[in-house]
Amino acid sequence: MNSPSPADLGRWSYWHGEDQLLRLGVSTCLLGEEVRFDGGHARDRYVTDTLGQWFEYVSVCPEVEMGMSIPRPAIRLIDEGQGVQLVAPSTGEDFTSRMADYAQAKVTELMKFDLDGYILKKSSPSCGLARIRVYRDGMPARRNEQGLFAAQLTERWPSLPVEEEGRLNDPGLRENFIERVFARNRWRTLVERGLTRRRLVEFHTAHKLLIRAHNETAYRRLGRLVGSAGTIGNRELFAEYELEFQVALRTKATVKKHVNVLQHAMGYLKTILTAVEKCELLATIEDYRLGLLPLVVPLTLLRYNIRRHDIEYLAGQLYFDPHPKELMLRNHA
Ligand code: SF4
Repeated sequence: MNSPSPADLGRWSYWHGEDQLLRLGVSTCLLGEEVRFDGGHARDRYVTDTLGQWFEYVSVCPEVEMGMSIPRPAIRLIDEGQGVQLVAPSTGEDFTSRMADYAQAKVTELMKFDLDGYILKKSSPSCGLARIRVYRDGMPARRNEQGLFAAQLTERWPSLPVEEEGRLNDPGLRENFIERVFARNRWRTLVERGLTRRRLVEFHTAHKLLIRAHNETAYRRLGRLVGSAGTIGNRELFAEYELEFQVALRTKATVKKHVNVLQHAMGYLKTILTAVEKCELLATIEDYRLGLLPLVVPLTLLRYNIRRHDIEYLAGQLYFDPHPKELMLRNHA
């Protein structure tokens, strides 16, 4: 990473290396392995076939790994007034403390793998990320819990991007998740290659527009943090930045926020473009705002003008190239 050009810093492939696979944790059944309670699987083609080209998976089936058989009695979350428990209603067996012990040890083990993200199976009392049904007196009572393994994972590892496979069908949520995964990998690679204050500034500068598309307040906080580099130690600075950076990207980028960023970027070109070119770009951004065009269209037009007029600051912004175009994430967002 010696003296990269702005254009280098603005390319996702500069940070990752063209052939480097990113590493994701995944619920085993999503890969097509027959580990579910009924001996079946829950293969998700997007996870295996599309994302599988870019990610290597560390697969985890909490129920099997903590010693349950295949097949096995179905388990569910219940709350009879003594807190949430994980039980098999058909046998009455209580798996709460076994799962808690297993999850504690497994999350500690996973943290050593330096994952870039995690895809969990939805609706599972073990793996589900949110809205898991809780029963009382044998009846569904509420739907506001996490699976017990997912709860440990997210509580102990708040900077890890985590999503459910079902939510990856939503183009906006999908783009948000994958963008965070690539951003986390960039951070991890930076740390592995040797993080210094100068490189932190490089990293932050390259991510400015990307962060702004998610969370303007966090963008300002991160700017102050990088600016305060002389007043706090490196260790504290880097740890705070990492957490704050991931928290910033966790906020979903909306159409409105993208429009603001696109217009901001256009400001760098306003004295260069002809009146006709400006109109064309503005019309494209407006069509995106109205939902008539996907995000990739104004981005492509802007990128073309950035290259044509050699706008150094914008050429160095990962906002325009945060992940492989083959994933086509912005063709639908
Ligand atoms: S949802 Fe989780 S615990 Fe259930 S089969 Fe899939 S990986 Fe195993």
